[in-house]
Order: sequence, then C-alpha cells, then structure tokens
Amino acid sequence: MNCSIKNIFIGIGPGIGSCCFEVGKEVSDKFEKKSTIAAQFVHPVSEQKALVDLRGLITSDFMMAGIPLENIENMNYCTSCCSDLFYSYRKEGKNTGRMLLAARLIVI
Ligand SMILES: [Zn+2]
Repeated sequence: MNCSIKNIFIGIGPGIGSCCFEVGKEVSDKFEKKSTIAAQFVHPVSEQKALVDLRGLITSDFMMAGIPLENIENMNYCTSCCSDLFYSYRKEGKNTGRMLLAARLIVI
C-alpha cells in the first residue's frame, strides 16, 4: 500500500472473549505448537480444557508486525457474554444470526 506501517490503524470488533472461548486440548495444543507467543494466550482451566484469548493474540500479531499499540482500537465486547447485543454461535448455536463487518480504506 506504499505507506508507513505507523500510519496503519486497526480496529478489532466484537468477538468471543477469553472469558468464553473454551476449547478442548486438541485445539489448545495447536495454539501452543504454533509459537511460544501464541502459547501465551492459552490458559488451561483443566487437564482437557483451556481458555484462548484470541483478541490478545490478534493484538500481539499486529504489534509483532510493527503496528503501534496506540494504533490498535479494541472494542473488548465478548459476543457470548453480550448476546443481547451480538449474535453468538458459541452461546446460541447454529440458528442464531450472523454479523457483518463493513470496512473502508481511508487514504489521508
Ligand atoms: Zn465472555
């Protein structure tokens, strides 16, 4: 895009939070094997279950790419906890609605 990475701004919208994104060992193992950084966002709750902080991992990935933290805006809404505001497949199952994101590139 021929711009400085310092001029890129990221918005992370609602999504399942680490409070509710519980996965089995087969999934948490994939995060832990991906990298030592990804492993930092896996929090075991038992021998067979773990909570994964996807929002933290995504933020970390952007920062590793050089995006300054102050350029990353995070809504911090968990769609499962806030199912009165958002749809949550995890909480409501396959018959819930779907969310749509519209984004626009702004050239300054
Ligand atoms: Zn939650």
